[in-house]
Amino acid sequence: MPKFEPVIGLEIHVQLKTESKMFCSSPNQTENVPPNTNICEVCTGQPGSLPVPNQEAIEKAILAGLALNCKIPEYSKFDRKNYFYPDLPKGYQISQFDNPLCGAGHFTFPVGDLSPAGQAGGPLSSRGESKSVARSARTIRITRAHLEEDAGKLLHPAGASYSLVDLNRAGVPLLEIVTEPDFTSPAEARIFLQKLRTLARYLGVSDADMEKGHLRCDANISMRPAGDKKLPDYKVEIKNMNSFKAVEEALAFEIERQTEALLHKEPLKVETRGWSDNKRVTVSQRVKEGSDDYRYFPEPDLPVLHLTRELVDSLKRRMPELPQAKAERFLKEFSLPEKIIWQLVEDRALSEYFEGIVSELLEWCSVEGIVDQKIIADHIKEAANWCVGLFTELTNAHGLAASHTKITPENFAELMKMVIKGEVSKTAAKQVFTEMFETGEDPSNIVSARGLQQLSDHSSIEAAVDKVIAENPNVVGDYKSGKKQAMGFLVGKIMGATKGQANPQAVNDMLRKKLE
Ligand SMILES: [Zn+2]
Repeated sequence: MPKFEPVIGLEIHVQLKTESKMFCSSPNQTENVPPNTNICEVCTGQPGSLPVPNQEAIEKAILAGLALNCKIPEYSKFDRKNYFYPDLPKGYQISQFDNPLCGAGHFTFPVGDLSPAGQAGGPLSSRGESKSVARSARTIRITRAHLEEDAGKLLHPAGASYSLVDLNRAGVPLLEIVTEPDFTSPAEARIFLQKLRTLARYLGVSDADMEKGHLRCDANISMRPAGDKKLPDYKVEIKNMNSFKAVEEALAFEIERQTEALLHKEPLKVETRGWSDNKRVTVSQRVKEGSDDYRYFPEPDLPVLHLTRELVDSLKRRMPELPQAKAERFLKEFSLPEKIIWQLVEDRALSEYFEGIVSELLEWCSVEGIVDQKIIADHIKEAANWCVGLFTELTNAHGLAASHTKITPENFAELMKMVIKGEVSKTAAKQVFTEMFETGEDPSNIVSARGLQQLSDHSSIEAAVDKVIAENPNVVGDYKSGKKQAMGFLVGKIMGATKGQANPQAVNDMLRKKLE
């Protein structure tokens, strides 16, 4: 049976986060506002109104382009894309045709885990021994990225014989990113989108929330004989995918559908299909006869944009450390598992917060004269685990950014020291941490106020151990005659005698020594 491989390209619209819209001063806000309130004569296409380009949108678009390694040309211009739709009162969209703001580029991202979203493992899943984050990285070529304005929204009230138009979204700035057909699997496309979301958030150019429509993705896919270098002579465009999972599922569905057709020698058409989230299938929307003719021409109401060297250089200086670079630095500086590194790095605020804790821990180690790298690494690892564990759980539950909680990096570090020293048990530490999150109180104050100290000191544990041994001669006899499970009974008794405050490890060690 012949084998086929998919050829996949993406077209992504990123809604830019700006004060005002692309060509007018109406607020760029579409959520939680009544319909048709953030509008003006420009974005509703009134005769005689003139557009003015939004500098913030242009800068954010270039910033994103630079992060995608795109060439930024010296000159760029806007063009009219003509088509009629009821949510487009002007009868055309201001977009960019042949001189986009960002030219060809490329984006490299890790594909450690190519299994479907939410499942562990997979064919390329990371293996612990490797030391490079870029080890299983993929590079996707970016064709271009251009700036354009969004259209309004049509609402279709259930049962009504009419539709409603809301123009709050009309004129909102969009960055359209087009990739080359370089993706070879649905999972790769999904990971790319997830990394693009992280990137957009790092740059502060967009909230890039797919569910809210800040990040919209169309995909084109076709199949060719495995190993073939030629692009197939057809492609299918998929629309209406509102989540990363939907993108992956829709592409997987198309691979199956198109492979089936090819095996049965059925011709495949150039068509647009929509993803149905309920039925989990793609449905044909329209079959294309030739290409669309938008009759593009240069926007006569806007001058050509001159992108000076100074502007581009100043934007380069504004570029933060990008996720991939940060992940590689974390891997080099802290011996942490790659999975945890990415959990930290995906969230810029969390990664910066974590670095704050690390710097507190390092300072403390240097004050205490701790130079043993293993001990230092243990503290950092403990902090990382708590950051991606309970801390993230709590911040998510409260909808808070890491930088906005009541736990200072100093107090966080303090608790880590207490946990590693065994001054507080892991269970008690969770209770302390939750209280720190609620009150911002110092961990040592909470521990003493709640009586949560863990007994690690020799003498107080020894007294309890001796007492339990003296009170349970039969069990001790059982243990000595080979019943190893008797040990658990004795440990339980000792933990009870110390009201659960003894360090279980210390109890075990001491008991074993005494019974030998
Ligand atoms: Zn407006």
